[in-house]
Amino acid sequence: MLFKTAEEIYLDANATTPVLPEAAKAAHEAMQELFGNPSSNHTSGLRAREILESARRLAQSVLGVTSDQGQIIFTSGATEAIQLGIFSCLCQLKEQRGQFDPSTATNIHRINSEPFTADVGNEANGVNSPKRFLLYGATEHKAVPQALQHWNRLLCFGAEVTAIPVDRKGHLDLDFLSQHVPLADMVCTMAINNETGVITDLKQVEATIRKSNPDVLWMVDSVQAIGKIDMRLGSTTIDYAPFSGHKIYAPKGIGILYARKSAPIVPLMAGGGQEHGARGGTENLPGVAAIAAVLQQLTDSPSRSFNDQQTLEDYRQRLIAQLKTTFPSLVLNAPLDTSAPTTINFSVQGFSSKELLDLFDAAGIRVSSGSACGSEVVGSYVLEAMGLPRWQSEGAIRLSFGPLITTAEIEAACQQIEQVGFALCESCLVVAPQASVDRRPIDGLVQLKNGSTCTWLLFDADSARCLIIDPLPELAPRIASLVRCQESHAIAILDTHAHLDHHSCRTELLTELGPLALPSAHNADLLGWPQQPDGTLELADQTIAPYLQLGNKVLAQTELPGHTKISSAYLFGPLNDGKLKGKLKNRLDGTPIRMTQSDVKFAFLGDTILMGGLGRSDFPTSVPDKMYDSLKRISRLINPRTIICPTHDYTNGFATCLAAERTQNELLNRVLSESGIDENDFLIRKREMDARITQSDNMTDIICGHVSDSIDESVGDLLEVPKHGLQELLSRQPNVLIVDVREPHEFVFTLDWKAAGFGCPPISIPLTRLTGEIPRLQQLSENEERTILFLCRSGKRSSKAAEVAWRNGIRSVGHVAGGLALHTSIHSLAPQSQSDVGYVI
Ligand code: PLP
Repeated sequence: MLFKTAEEIYLDANATTPVLPEAAKAAHEAMQELFGNPSSNHTSGLRAREILESARRLAQSVLGVTSDQGQIIFTSGATEAIQLGIFSCLCQLKEQRGQFDPSTATNIHRINSEPFTADVGNEANGVNSPKRFLLYGATEHKAVPQALQHWNRLLCFGAEVTAIPVDRKGHLDLDFLSQHVPLADMVCTMAINNETGVITDLKQVEATIRKSNPDVLWMVDSVQAIGKIDMRLGSTTIDYAPFSGHKIYAPKGIGILYARKSAPIVPLMAGGGQEHGARGGTENLPGVAAIAAVLQQLTDSPSRSFNDQQTLEDYRQRLIAQLKTTFPSLVLNAPLDTSAPTTINFSVQGFSSKELLDLFDAAGIRVSSGSACGSEVVGSYVLEAMGLPRWQSEGAIRLSFGPLITTAEIEAACQQIEQVGFALCESCLVVAPQASVDRRPIDGLVQLKNGSTCTWLLFDADSARCLIIDPLPELAPRIASLVRCQESHAIAILDTHAHLDHHSCRTELLTELGPLALPSAHNADLLGWPQQPDGTLELADQTIAPYLQLGNKVLAQTELPGHTKISSAYLFGPLNDGKLKGKLKNRLDGTPIRMTQSDVKFAFLGDTILMGGLGRSDFPTSVPDKMYDSLKRISRLINPRTIICPTHDYTNGFATCLAAERTQNELLNRVLSESGIDENDFLIRKREMDARITQSDNMTDIICGHVSDSIDESVGDLLEVPKHGLQELLSRQPNVLIVDVREPHEFVFTLDWKAAGFGCPPISIPLTRLTGEIPRLQQLSENEERTILFLCRSGKRSSKAAEVAWRNGIRSVGHVAGGLALHTSIHSLAPQSQSDVGYVI
């Protein structure tokens, strides 16, 4: 199937909008021609001042207020406008209470790093006075609670900053509000939520507040509302309303604070008296000119919005219908009837928001995993406040379009979302409803992760057989759909040990896979090892081990007690010299087949050796005195570069090897050294290490091993190819092998690699397959002296891949800093031909 990467489809308007051409033109004019200082009294200044004042008049008109009702103050954005409102409110209250004279500011002296709590003395009101509150909606943009905390602390205000809870639909708890508002010094709510689009019924909130506290200062964050709904404020009792230019097609760096006539303004910045004394500093005139051009469009609309609600709702319905076709298990995270039609917040069971975001981005669709400011944070505090389950909050995607979007753009977005669906089917992440979609065969090791826990899958494409190791319940749907879509048959579903931190989903998988789970997978012991393995072989320490055959490779099983009493190690690799072909078939001939140290390419050791640490041995099921021998035994069974695949990856290191561990895993190194440590000393040290886990980790999750606090993360000279450095590098070093570590469903949306300066398409080794490909990369690096250069979307995954490769002995390795995002222009996004799609080496 031919995947087309669209030119950029921008569906993240709640984060920022493009700039309206009229706004850009006005800003340009203000820079090139009308560049005077609005405070100057000559003609250039007067012309500039007119831009400023006419913008103010336009803002008044859009907001439906006269100069008698309130003032318009231009700021750098909404965050500043929020600070100005909150600062002014708290200063005035302090002043009224005789505690603070803003003109001298003499008592702003105690900068306490801890926020005040109610019990720390309510100094604003005297020790015995009742608690006072600064109230804000629990789903407010972070700028609001952060600013409340900040000024409460800095001004020694002493109130309790308290969130007003919301219900499942994101609506404020009005009972809570009416209970607390009599003792509130300020109330902050929002008109439309930036993550969910949920609209607040401001009339209801106003009635609740004013019923019992007519004078409390009330701020309404209106950033996401202007241009979408009518925000005429003149007839309301809203005291402060912040707005932001870059959410309404003006550039970044310009915002507005509307302040009701009776609401105090205490300048945050003192200076030349600009903004009628409310904000010192020469005004951002290009920004003001730009926002004026946008406001002009809004004043021309009787509803004060860019587009009519029904059109926008139709667009939203069209997008939702397409999304549901692509992701049949999609759930919406906010009610449609009370949210702005320009926002869709959804989750898809089994997918993290990071995965979805990467996928959409690869297809040229820009969406977000929550608010742009919090995109690095796992989970959405907004959805958590609404009481949504964790998977929904951690998997949330926000798709938001600007009210000026066109039908053609919506159609293009839908077409591209359809392509996303095909890509997911091809890479077996969802099972294709359309028989026509090709699936990409998987051959080799796949590493799936949920948090820090790993499941390992071994596929053999030719024989359509697979092995599953340490299956996690959270990953069960993904494992099942991969196996099913590959039409592979599970020979065994194994666990390295009985895990204490999670249960194995072997039983669920056996049912889920139906006939794809072979009889050997059913007739198995407690850890899933088949009662009738394919035979036995001799391991490098001359012990005899049963094995299972997977294509032309074997998986041998041996006991490895320590972390738990019943623990298995699984050793996987091809047997050299055609041993497998010849002898396995004739295993009754009496000669044992040998699996040497270097035959073992991958060792699944459960929680015995972790990256930078050892599995703990203080569980009730542990046998600490066996661990020492188990560690020594491992070094006899595998070679220093055998890839160790752990069950837990607490350092996000993917996989390791004995050579690497001996440099960063001190106790292991001592066990393995000639003049190392005896068993008694090891037990003492190990006990101390295990004790530190429970002492230092106050997490509720069970930690299965100790990872050194001083783990050596340093990696050698990793090559960092900067923006514009790629071509020069490729011409200097033609032996560079570029490896794209994005997942297959991202890689199919490739681009015009030549135009992007890559010479030819890179090869694809998705991060989930990286561990499995390390032995081959080691060979390429050693035997062919190739430099390996990893590439991804943003430079994060590629930098991680380079570290993993380096730790596993590949020395000439690096990554493309900034990833495809910086190394490609929108113009190099182009349909690729089928032959351009390389796959694993
Ligand atoms: N309030 C809301 C609801 C927002 O969405 C944002 C921006 O995301 C802000 C405040 C902060 O706006 P600015 O970027 O102009 O500081």
